[in-house]
Amino acid sequence: PFSLLQVFMEHARNTPERPALSFEAERYTYGELAHHVTAFAQALLRHGLKPGDRVALFLENSPRFVIAYLGVQYAHGIVVLVNTQYRQVELDHILTDSGARACVTGAAGAEELVPLLPGLPALEWLIPVEPPTVALPPRLTVLPFDALLGEPVEPKRLMLLPGSINIAVLGYTSGTTGRSKGAMLRQSNLLSNIRAVTEAWRWTAADRLLLALPLFHTHGLMVGLHGTLYTGGSVDLRRRFVASEVLEALRDDTSLTMFFGVPTMYGRLLEEARRTGVRPRPLRLMVSGSAPLSPQLFQDIEATFDQRILERYGMTETLMNTTNPYDGERRPGTVGMPFPGQEARVVDVRTRVPVADGELGEIEVRGPHVFAGYWQKDEATRESFDANGWWFRTGDLGLRDKDGYFHITGRARELIISGGFNVYPREVEEVLATHPGVAEVAVLGLPDADFGEQVVAVVVPAAGQPPPEAQALVDWCKDRLASFKKPRRVEFVDALPRNALGKVQKHVLRERLSPR
Ligand code: ATP
Ligand code: MG
Repeated sequence: PFSLLQVFMEHARNTPERPALSFEAERYTYGELAHHVTAFAQALLRHGLKPGDRVALFLENSPRFVIAYLGVQYAHGIVVLVNTQYRQVELDHILTDSGARACVTGAAGAEELVPLLPGLPALEWLIPVEPPTVALPPRLTVLPFDALLGEPVEPKRLMLLPGSINIAVLGYTSGTTGRSKGAMLRQSNLLSNIRAVTEAWRWTAADRLLLALPLFHTHGLMVGLHGTLYTGGSVDLRRRFVASEVLEALRDDTSLTMFFGVPTMYGRLLEEARRTGVRPRPLRLMVSGSAPLSPQLFQDIEATFDQRILERYGMTETLMNTTNPYDGERRPGTVGMPFPGQEARVVDVRTRVPVADGELGEIEVRGPHVFAGYWQKDEATRESFDANGWWFRTGDLGLRDKDGYFHITGRARELIISGGFNVYPREVEEVLATHPGVAEVAVLGLPDADFGEQVVAVVVPAAGQPPPEAQALVDWCKDRLASFKKPRRVEFVDALPRNALGKVQKHVLRERLSPR
């Protein structure tokens, strides 16, 4: 096969009756899903979609998301994924940057979109999944989603599946370290990565996944949905994550075999389980990723759910990079080893020479999963590959231990070099977090005339007590870490800025703190 879409279409032809997707009261077999995908693709072509046209999905989880996602690719368009929590600033950035010609969205999405239209000349079509509640300017062609699905499917019409080097998706990064960038993902990237993932996790057609992650992001879409479609398994798709509902489904639905989540979801499932006494049935596999899973949470889940969570590490640009073993030891605090057919290594941040096991550096990856570059950002693309263009610089700091397990310790862009010494923010954060007066903390480097950079701690004080003295926090670090790592400045804030996936946005803090 040369694309995931092709694999999906073959499942639909060979086993059309097999269940693919359930969502609230809706049920789709492979055959039904493929029929809708074909109808949607043909309608797009009939209305004039050209190969490579960008179609933005600004859409909550639903079967329509899945149909639009596959249908755009089938019609040789490029899917642009947009986080549904984004509002005008981010939406404007992504739609402008991608030059989207069409946008599939709901009523709330159309409301966000309309004020931006004067600045989006490329946007010609609105494809609403429900009737818009705002007046739409006449220059916009409105193609209601359900009307497109209802257009006749021409059985004999020859439709070529997109080739493996076609760009299938622009996946926008989460914007944790700056403005989000559009990662160009080829059909071959999607296919090779999901082949590796399903092999590593022994994922088969017998599996049924409970999927409450958003489909606009790599984790839900490129792992959860892709794996289902690749194996011919089925998915119980949720509009959103609701801990009580997920926990009850995991207890009651005997057909479920897998659950994927981010660490905050596991935290909430645990709280819910402790509160209600509800326990999930034993599943074949529970996976965590997108952000670090603390060893404490890993152990609490094991103690309460009798499940050793499998933690893996991935990113928009490369999809899944490393995974703890399915059969071997799942080691808390690590992200395991490269998936089959892919490579990972750790290099010195300055010399770019590979370092020995156990030493810190930047993680680089190589293989068929690595994307084709950032959309219209040649400079950023060049900077993110080594001189030969082989190894992709993930921007993540970490190490490989002597047993081959990778550990992630932070972001390269957040590494502080103060007086010539490397300071890893994560290390200082962990020490400060143990102070009883600290609820949350972010550590970052700000320019400093003497030291190049100075260590700055931004602290959210613990509730219900007077905030700690800045000096007390500095001393707390001095007692526990080398002196050059202690913060030279401590700022108190009510909350840390986080992006839609719950990751702390240090660049926002940096901007706030810099003009002083
Ligand atoms: P941006 O690139 O715009 O700054 P982002 O890197 O957060 O945003 P994503 O591609 O959504 O955008 O996230 C990938 C990043 O998430 C990885 O580079 C890594 O830092 C982090 N990550 C993913 N899985 C894990 C994990 N298991 N443990 C620790 N970090 C993880
Ligand atoms: Mg990133």
